[in-house]
Amino acid sequence: MTAAPLVKIDLQSPAAKPSLAGMTRAGLKTALADAGVPEKQLNMRVAQLWSWIYARGLTRFEDMTDVSKDLRRQLDDRFTLDRPEIVSEQVSVDGTCKWLLRLPKRGHEARPPEIETVYIPESDRGTLCISSQVGCTLTCSFCHTGTQRLVRNLEAEEIAGQILLARDRIGDWPGAKGPEDGRLLPSSERKITNVVLMGMGEPLYNFDNVKAAMDVASDGDGLALSRRRITLSTSGVVPEIPRWGEQADTMLAISLHATNDDLRNELVPINRKYPIAELMEACRNYPGLSNARRITFEYVMLKDINDSLAEARALVKLLSGIPAKINLIPFNPWPNSRYECSDWETIERFAEVVNRAGYASPVRTPRGRDILAACGQLRSESLRLSASERRAGAEKA
Ligand code: SAH
Ligand code: SF4
Repeated sequence: MTAAPLVKIDLQSPAAKPSLAGMTRAGLKTALADAGVPEKQLNMRVAQLWSWIYARGLTRFEDMTDVSKDLRRQLDDRFTLDRPEIVSEQVSVDGTCKWLLRLPKRGHEARPPEIETVYIPESDRGTLCISSQVGCTLTCSFCHTGTQRLVRNLEAEEIAGQILLARDRIGDWPGAKGPEDGRLLPSSERKITNVVLMGMGEPLYNFDNVKAAMDVASDGDGLALSRRRITLSTSGVVPEIPRWGEQADTMLAISLHATNDDLRNELVPINRKYPIAELMEACRNYPGLSNARRITFEYVMLKDINDSLAEARALVKLLSGIPAKINLIPFNPWPNSRYECSDWETIERFAEVVNRAGYASPVRTPRGRDILAACGQLRSESLRLSASERRAGAEKA
């Protein structure tokens, strides 16, 4: 028997048409210029597309009725309006929805990376939790994302694309139909009222792309989310905090989790680089703070680690003088995590100290626990690379 000839298979998919969905105005302008739109028409065409893509949610160029037929065809030849590909959609018993999304491969990636996006409906609001990176380079000891080795920054359109995709899936476009399966959706006209950068990744390590995507999200002629309804959560990349405040001006959340450097070094290792005192100073100086516009401090409740009453008092003391909200987050366990969530009584006693200091209803109810969609549980399967795939990826790089 003769051996089958060795065939070299190119695993890279053929160059796909780029999607315009999620692009910034500048990106659209360049794309249209490349497609041959004359310079003097560019601004007008960008404005037309902007409205179709971001105010109406169109997914086909052929439906853009005020764009000439010729241009519609040209656009269709070169581009798509595709959203990130959905690998799975899970709906929790409490209405929380989690999407696992697949992104195009770039450069040396051995397989297409995956990220997660979570939608959390409440009676009067709907919050979309979006990812800013595939995985995270930081290694907070209680966070599942931090154990994922495959990491890359998301492009601006991949970040904004998560909002478009979620609006598609829950029917949050003018005239669109919702899922109609009886699940909880807010009574508000818009089903996504808030966006939080609390999914996978450290958003301040992908500053430019996250900033561009939030410019898209807050553009009044399109998605039109108020910057006060967008919250960036950071583990404490101190030098980027003032820059973010000046340039992006969204609400800010800080993953504090400890009140002294020794413990915070262990839980949130970036603290070794930027200790608590420096972090607090950056918070104090965050632009536009007032009692109506506070920084949220997140504090994960870890049994016998950071949940004593002395720590509750230290927390209140640390935040004095900063317009602050406190979010106590019950620890969400994940397979093989080394921590346990504090007992409910301990959380209540801790919350009481915080409440007495004037901070209202601070315990965040975990949502979507049954589908591993709660805070800090996001970690895509794209890590499950075999050793040989990893080697192949490294060799190509
Ligand atoms: N990287 C950013 C944003 C993503 S994490 C940051 O760290 O702020 C969003 C929030 O979930 C952070 O406050 C994070 O500390 C918290 N978190 C991570 N793992 C968690 C877990 N297992 N249980 C509860 N909260 C967790
Ligand atoms: Fe990264 Fe945030 Fe998780 Fe820390 S908590 S590992 S910064 S995603």
